[in-house]
Amino acid sequence: MDQFIPINEPLLGGNEKKYLCECIDSGWISSEGPYVERFEKGMAVYTGRKYGIAVSSGTSALETAVQALELPKGSEVILPAFTIISCAQAVVKAGLVPVVVDCMEDTWNMDVSQIEEKITEKTAAIMAVHIYGITVDMDPVLLLARKYGLKVIEDAAQAHGQTYKGKRCGSFGDVSIFSFYPNKLIACGEGGMVLTDDAKLADRCRKIRNLCFLPERRFVHEELGSNFRMTNMQAAIGCAQLERIEEAILKKREIGRFYKEHLKQAEGVLCQSVERTEYCDNIYWVYGVVLEHTKMDAGQAMEKLRKRGIGTRPFFYPIQKQPVFLKMGLFQGEACPVSEKIAEKGFYIPSGLGLTEEKMQKVAQVMLEEFS
Ligand SMILES: *Cc1c(COP(=O)(O)O)cnc(C)c1O
Repeated sequence: MDQFIPINEPLLGGNEKKYLCECIDSGWISSEGPYVERFEKGMAVYTGRKYGIAVSSGTSALETAVQALELPKGSEVILPAFTIISCAQAVVKAGLVPVVVDCMEDTWNMDVSQIEEKITEKTAAIMAVHIYGITVDMDPVLLLARKYGLKVIEDAAQAHGQTYKGKRCGSFGDVSIFSFYPNKLIACGEGGMVLTDDAKLADRCRKIRNLCFLPERRFVHEELGSNFRMTNMQAAIGCAQLERIEEAILKKREIGRFYKEHLKQAEGVLCQSVERTEYCDNIYWVYGVVLEHTKMDAGQAMEKLRKRGIGTRPFFYPIQKQPVFLKMGLFQGEACPVSEKIAEKGFYIPSGLGLTEEKMQKVAQVMLEEFS
């Protein structure tokens, strides 16, 4: 059999090795090293934010951001049903209540027209999460936030370099976050960042990331934080990746367009990532497909592809169906039918930055053989 094509192969073809060697040669491997600040500044400039706070993952970035906002205990945060657990988990861990909104059939992003009906006296914030390369329709979110006095948290973990109406993702709302997990557009092994324009919020994030040490007396704490520090080694790789972000975006779009064009004949069976909306061109963080007009579910389709040497990943599992939250008594009787349908029928195919033309061709060919 030909070589297996994994779901994601990262691309580390720039200064990654050079910067990493510098860390080792200089002895600066901890979070105190100079690359951390350089990466923070670089990301802040890139997204048009004042402050960047590097942390250990996208998940810890969400936890830091939510904790830093100091929302009243028991208040509600509206977020998409179709997203990673990290989003809802950050809310629950801060003693807040997650409230879900279903996603749209075509873009798989939060249906912003359903947000207002979920707003109650307890609502304190909206978490907008850009999904699979298309952005949330941000204007209505920002408008509602202003109307009801809500905070906005933007999760741009899948949207490095993406724009909404020409403005960079990561620049919206009170606070935004990125992940630098290896399948993201900027990768550094593990890592994340919180970005904001608010000096006080930035300061709180820095404290939370570092165990809330009192500045005047180390090892004294008035509040609980975490160790979410990013190392100089991760930041060094991040700096090298940021230098090549435009190339990464071009490559993602090239992969997306290739699949779009080559999988046309499978359109009767596969609903695929949309090319664009009124407010953004797909950056194709991943190329997603949802099975249609077939009894087959994503698990069966993925198994077929695995046997043919092609790696896939299932779509997210809806937040309101997560066993851990049901056990806590959350989301009883909550239905978000679109998120449930696409979770059952959707998966994505190899779309990492290291994917070669040859492999793309192989994936498309096998997809057509199996699904048209
Ligand atoms: C990847 C991702 C995260 C979590 O990031 P990690 O670095 O894996 O913890 C959060 N939100 C979204 C939308 C993501 O895609």
